[in-house]
Amino acid sequence: MSEVPATDKSPSQPKPRKFQAIKGVRDLLPAETPLWNHVEHTAHDVFGTFGFAEIRVPIIEPTELFARSVGLETDIVSKEMYSFELQAFQEIRHFVGKIMSSQSDPLRFTGWLHGLVGALRSAWRSGRIEHSEVNRQTVKLLEEIYDWLYQKIADDKVLRTAIVNPEIQAHITDAVSIAMRLEISPDTAVLRPEATASVCRAYIEHNMQQLPQPVKLHYSGPMFRRERPQKGRYRQFYQIGAEVLGGKDAPGIDAEVIEMVMAFFDKLELRDVQLDINSIGCRECRPKYVELLRAALVKVKDQLGPDSQRRIETNPLRVLDSKVENEQAIIATLPRMAAHLCPACAEHFAEVKRQLELRGVIYKENWRLVRGLDYYMRTTFEITAKGLGSQNAVCGGGRYDGLVELLGGPPTKGIGFAIGEDRLILSLQESGKMLPPQGRDVYIAWMGEKAFATALRAARDLRAAGFGVELPPTEQKFGKALAQADKLGARYALILGEDEVTSGDWTLKTLADGSQTKYSESNLLDHLRKNITSSL
Ligand code: AMP
Repeated sequence: MSEVPATDKSPSQPKPRKFQAIKGVRDLLPAETPLWNHVEHTAHDVFGTFGFAEIRVPIIEPTELFARSVGLETDIVSKEMYSFELQAFQEIRHFVGKIMSSQSDPLRFTGWLHGLVGALRSAWRSGRIEHSEVNRQTVKLLEEIYDWLYQKIADDKVLRTAIVNPEIQAHITDAVSIAMRLEISPDTAVLRPEATASVCRAYIEHNMQQLPQPVKLHYSGPMFRRERPQKGRYRQFYQIGAEVLGGKDAPGIDAEVIEMVMAFFDKLELRDVQLDINSIGCRECRPKYVELLRAALVKVKDQLGPDSQRRIETNPLRVLDSKVENEQAIIATLPRMAAHLCPACAEHFAEVKRQLELRGVIYKENWRLVRGLDYYMRTTFEITAKGLGSQNAVCGGGRYDGLVELLGGPPTKGIGFAIGEDRLILSLQESGKMLPPQGRDVYIAWMGEKAFATALRAARDLRAAGFGVELPPTEQKFGKALAQADKLGARYALILGEDEVTSGDWTLKTLADGSQTKYSESNLLDHLRKNITSSL
């Protein structure tokens, strides 16, 4: 490489910053994406065989959706969501700030009030501010004051004396105090931390309860949580999930959903998969059990760490989740949900287990498996896999019969799961599963203008037949072309020079052993079809 001339170096221009992906997010490079695609296609196929259809929900959702479903007191909602204000609210806040700071300048004040009234009208129309009586009155009064000020200010004479005009000042003061009455809560959106709530929102929004029930949906895509990054835990991570909404809460549905996840993992040849299941009861029996558990925990409070101590009050079930070493022996002595299920829940759980056995699904009962969120009930399950260290859960799921109602829909049964795709892939990679990146089947080594026209035709026909083709855009010496074909891992080099074009006999070189054979144009395609597809 030649040296950069000294005159091109400008000492005053700093080297542009080299960017890196932000903390906790990452690129998935071509060496990995074939496995990701394979996993996603397999999910599509397997879930399809169980009658699940794909849904794609937005990545941005109203904050309130998760505050209400996942719960305000959970880590996810209280500290891990990426949220931002929506424009309508920003605009109103901007104008309110402006009228506050321009009270001593009636002309500017009236201008900003005009802006505020406009923003409020449009926010009202689009439903972005609450349609309360107070807001209705407030908007109306502000409009009236604006009209009044505008009339006064249109009159030049008044404008000159406006600063000292007590009537105008009184209207300005009124407008400010009226504006303060607006009932607007910050209108924010978040990057979704999970997709169950979104799927339920979509079910309600599109009246899916009118479709034949239950509605079976699957999804995949990125989720966002501001967690502390580590192996298997990212801030942008990917989930593949499914939900069954509506219809009955028959145990056969729970068992089939679990069977489906296991069939998916089986198809992927995921190793050392362990399925844990539990029942956490319903709105009838769980609260009684939670009180019993709380009472038992209070008695051993001193022997627990600070997190568990806090959870005795906030969410005693979560104490059962604890991984703290010296709490394990104490937790083992706590009362268990299974002994306190109401008859309906006990029967439901027994039937789920019987059906899993009928379907040949191996499970382990784990009484400590709880989902921390209020809307979960009855069946919960978790699946762990090999090679993931402390973050070894690849799938979490459960029944959530109350959720759709909580989000403003009709009473609806629901069950679903979410698979952590990043972890699933990690586990597959740990057990040696790699898929080669989409390689080139044929590298076309051409020389000469006449050969280029033939090369273009060959590339088009080979691509149309589904082969991966690399066609160098500029002429290369054959030696260089073959070296490049080798580097790219191409399987064949198609050599097209003047001779080949004139004779119609094309030379195909197998790069692995260096052998060369001549083919006519039509025979070549047949040969490649046979050889490439048979070795896939
Ligand atoms: P959850 O939605 O919390 O029930 O999680 C379901 C699954 O998503 C877990 O079992 C993990 O496999 C995966 N998961 C959750 N959070 C993360 C994260 N921050 N990074 C990677 N995977 C995650």
